[in-house]
Amino acid sequence: MFKAILFDLDNTLLDFLTFKKETAKAAAKAMIRQGLNATEIEVYGKIFSVYDEKGIEYQKTFYEVVKQYNLEINKAEKIQQAGILAYLKRKFEVLKPYPSVVPTLRKIRNNGIKIGIVTDAPRNKVWQRLILTDLENEFDFVITHSDTLEFKPHPSPFNLALKKLGVLPNAVLFVGDNPSRDIKGAKEIGMKTCLARYGQVFKSKESADYELNKFEDLLKVLE
Ligand SMILES: [Mg+2]
Repeated sequence: MFKAILFDLDNTLLDFLTFKKETAKAAAKAMIRQGLNATEIEVYGKIFSVYDEKGIEYQKTFYEVVKQYNLEINKAEKIQQAGILAYLKRKFEVLKPYPSVVPTLRKIRNNGIKIGIVTDAPRNKVWQRLILTDLENEFDFVITHSDTLEFKPHPSPFNLALKKLGVLPNAVLFVGDNPSRDIKGAKEIGMKTCLARYGQVFKSKESADYELNKFEDLLKVLE
């Protein structure tokens, strides 16, 4: 029935929250090891406060955390760089797709259904994440924030996907974890919607046509 399925990336295909929690723990530990006078739980909390305030893609998180301790500049730099390196090292270990993502996507594609990504993440980060998780060749196309410079639920990224697909919106299913961005935006453009409950961080009253408790449930939706 659907000619195409569009996916959000973070917390829909990739277990992004586990990745952010694990990397924050590793960074906190490394910064304390290099002399930051604080507890792990305190530094972890400060990292997530920066994410809450500046967004989870903010690129100067560790700088903002270390700055709060008013350290001598070389000591601050040493601690900040230790945090960044520990974050990166842990990132390579823990960033993973949810279970069954790849076999499920392949079954869908083998049925002649086109699949694409529509994400609010920046283009360089998206390709890093896809290559790290071996997902880089699994999709017909990838639309990032850099392509339209608009965040979901703005219609631009959804319209760009429809243009690439050349199908009517009601032939498209959008799968995402964020009700007020993914579900709202897809619904407003006339797509069918599917909430990835297993990755849902933000609560909302926005309801979807379908819900997934695990990724492979998507195959039942398509039956
Ligand atoms: Mg998401």
